[in-house]
Amino acid sequence: MKAFSVIGITQSGKTNTVEKIIGELTRRRYSVGSVKDIHFEAFAIDTPGTNTYRHRQAGASLVTARGLKETDILYPVSLSIEKILEFYDQDWVVLEGVREINVPKIICAHDEEGIEDLLDASAIAIAGQVANTGLKEYKGLPVFNVLTQAVELTDYVVAKVPRRLPDFDAKCCGLCGMSCRELLAGIIRGEKKREDCLLRQTVQLEIGGKPVTMVPFVQEILTNALTALVSTLDGYEQGKEISLVWNPRE
Ligand code: SF4
Repeated sequence: MKAFSVIGITQSGKTNTVEKIIGELTRRRYSVGSVKDIHFEAFAIDTPGTNTYRHRQAGASLVTARGLKETDILYPVSLSIEKILEFYDQDWVVLEGVREINVPKIICAHDEEGIEDLLDASAIAIAGQVANTGLKEYKGLPVFNVLTQAVELTDYVVAKVPRRLPDFDAKCCGLCGMSCRELLAGIIRGEKKREDCLLRQTVQLEIGGKPVTMVPFVQEILTNALTALVSTLDGYEQGKEISLVWNPRE
């Protein structure tokens, strides 16, 4: 999966930018998912008086509103973006307004001051209202007007955004000699490649059918513990693949 985020303050042009890129990616036959981060404190689909709200008030920890045209699963909490992305298996996920994640960012702003407020090493391009001022580049980053340059911006995104990286600090993993965020910044600058991430999953772990990325020392602990246990059993043969499926509810 590839993912990037379009960030910026209200009315800076984020949704227009997201809409144009999604349209171009789907026209190129990629499957695309999206996430919209909503920062209004009062936002909720599940409002007092609705039937789903009453289900939740009665104690349901997960409520689904199933309609004829859509199905809305309502978690009564704000899930982490990592957790949300576990539901996606599209080629691309376009995030709107999500800043905390380790993915490349497109900054939408009204002016240069607005760009500066959001600028960091994960930025790959500028778009939004500021493109109407005639600005073509800001500190080496290209500025795109999505109304006239959606194709060019999408070409750029396709070329620039790597397959999604994890988000470990150098102490947790560091096989590449840095943190995941530093490697992403290096890839964006053109100094590193996605292949410089040396993390390999020698142990495959799935929870609820979803693969879990593990840092090397966790993989090592699991490998050692499993090998120590399994090697005492009849049928154990060194070097053969071992599969363990654990369902604690059965
Ligand atoms: S090797 Fe990969 S997972 Fe490990 S710190 Fe580097 S980028 Fe992150």
